[in-house]
Amino acid sequence: MKESLLQYLACPSCGAELSLNTTEYDGREAVSGELRCGGCQSIFPIRSGVPRFADIEHDEEQRETAENFGAQWLVFDQVQEHHEKQFLDWIAPVTPDFVRDKVVLEGGCGKGRHTRLAGLWGARDVIGIDLSVAVEAAYRNTKDLPNVHIIQADIYRPPLKRRFDYAFSVGVLHHLPDPRGGFDSLVKYVKPGGAVSAWVYGRENNGWIVDVVNPLRKHFTSKLPPRLLYFISYIPTVILYVTLKLIYAPLGKTGLKRFLFYADYLNYIARFPFLEIHNIVHDHLTAPVAFYISREEFAGWFGEGEIERAEIHWHNRNSWRGFARVRTPGQPERAEARYAK
Ligand SMILES: [Zn+2]
Repeated sequence: MKESLLQYLACPSCGAELSLNTTEYDGREAVSGELRCGGCQSIFPIRSGVPRFADIEHDEEQRETAENFGAQWLVFDQVQEHHEKQFLDWIAPVTPDFVRDKVVLEGGCGKGRHTRLAGLWGARDVIGIDLSVAVEAAYRNTKDLPNVHIIQADIYRPPLKRRFDYAFSVGVLHHLPDPRGGFDSLVKYVKPGGAVSAWVYGRENNGWIVDVVNPLRKHFTSKLPPRLLYFISYIPTVILYVTLKLIYAPLGKTGLKRFLFYADYLNYIARFPFLEIHNIVHDHLTAPVAFYISREEFAGWFGEGEIERAEIHWHNRNSWRGFARVRTPGQPERAEARYAK
């Protein structure tokens, strides 16, 4: 844990300041030690460089999700070039310029791929929080960047002050037991005038996943030992990969595209390398919880409470991305939400 993280931290129980007591220092940051609350005196350990606020034993479903994804993210450990383009797709209209000099929060950072990118784009500080053991990978993947911080914490109770200019969560909220609650929690830590982004699986066009893949995942694959599932998921991955390269990639550029099943999304991923396709397949088979969120529901997240000027976009005809500003109290609400295609 870098000492500059301390300015953003607050006790998740009582909101008081935390003080840092380092027992092992590697010359740049605290590798082990503890954070103590000046109010309720709670103690939160720092282990392997990561402050630990999560109590994942509490909630069985959350623990399973965290463990399955944690196992995945310890395996899928590379950050590659196409990830930047994909990330920008998920948070548009946000650009690297927008992020520069901002204090940024990522809800559900996994192995830190996007946290790292935001750090490289010149954010003043980026804090990635995740409940799972993926924080170990995130920490390794971002340790060299002085402006990036990783915390193991619950998105519903982050140990943070309201200090953020921008918060985002991509591909995570739909795996929470209460996706809307996770989104609302992020918004609470963004300063008035700041901004928030989210990307979630859509309900529209995903009936086949909800009817076929979901029951399979829920009752079978998510219960397999993580290592076994990792290898079993190679089978559908190979079938999908060959189909993408032999059918979707060539036909996607022709008029025949409209005859293809799930064409927008599959054409989009047809350019991805094998490992990324495996990642996507594995993702769909591993999570005990996955909600597919309708436009109406998603727009509701962005249409109420403290946010304004929402831009909702249907992404690849199978998912939703949203961007909005956090309202400044006392100012009239600005402009209606915009719904792009
Ligand atoms: Zn406290």
